Amino acid sequence: MKLIEVTSLKKGFGNLNVLTDVNFEVEKGDVIAVIGPSGAGKSTMLRCLINLEKVDGGTITVEGESFVKDGVYASHEQIKAVTRKMGMVFQNFNLFPHLSVRRNLTIAPTAVFGKSKEESDALCESLLDKVGLRDKIDAMPSTLSGGQKQRVAIARALMLNPDIMLFDEPTSALDPQLTSEVLGVMRALAADHMTMIVVTHEMSFAREVANKILFMCDGMIVESGTPAQVFGQPKDRRTADFFHNIL
Ligand code: ADP
Ligand code: MG
Repeated sequence: MKLIEVTSLKKGFGNLNVLTDVNFEVEKGDVIAVIGPSGAGKSTMLRCLINLEKVDGGTITVEGESFVKDGVYASHEQIKAVTRKMGMVFQNFNLFPHLSVRRNLTIAPTAVFGKSKEESDALCESLLDKVGLRDKIDAMPSTLSGGQKQRVAIARALMLNPDIMLFDEPTSALDPQLTSEVLGVMRALAADHMTMIVVTHEMSFAREVANKILFMCDGMIVESGTPAQVFGQPKDRRTADFFHNIL
């Protein structure tokens, strides 16, 4: 079952064409690693998927519903209904610094989506258990390590029960030990069959956890395939050059 379909996606900033023609599909249960050089447009692509950036052209379809079709956006309600199926985790955590861990998790469900306090608190506790931070429920973000902040951010994204999780370099602000605790939570999510798109420089994670790799360069996905294909036998010279430079 196709969860996401992106066709002919285009996005520029002024004269800079960042996404020139992006096409890909995500099947239910896919763990997709998006790799490629800095400036390739990886973050912009994720931000377009969740409507944090407006596209200039193309179609984005999520679970059979397009919120933008040939560059024309659906109604505000339709856009919200579709993008709500996706949760996103950012490089720099983006926690609300003035709110406790509990409030970081429960504010959107209660204040925006009308969930009861009891229901939100119960889900908050079970998700904090899942990421190993039940004991930090009353802590303020400033007292947490980077790895703990990112695990809270993952739990917060899960509060809205997304069908798809988007990760934009979730470990690139962390040192190696904290990286591994965050990757551990992501591996557990993948093992639970969460559909995930992960922009990452962690090649071992991409190789071991992802079932599909998208290599992005020059505003396009220039190569895609299984980790064995893309890492083992890259077809595009730009993919081969990228591996040559980083490995
Ligand atoms: P990546 O995540 O692959 O490193 P980005 O999507 O962050 O790439 O950026 C792609 C290009 O778009 C870069 O040249 C970046 O400077 C530019 N860019 C990204 N966001 C903006 C913005 N809001 N305004 C202007 N240029 C931007
Ligand atoms: Mg980026």
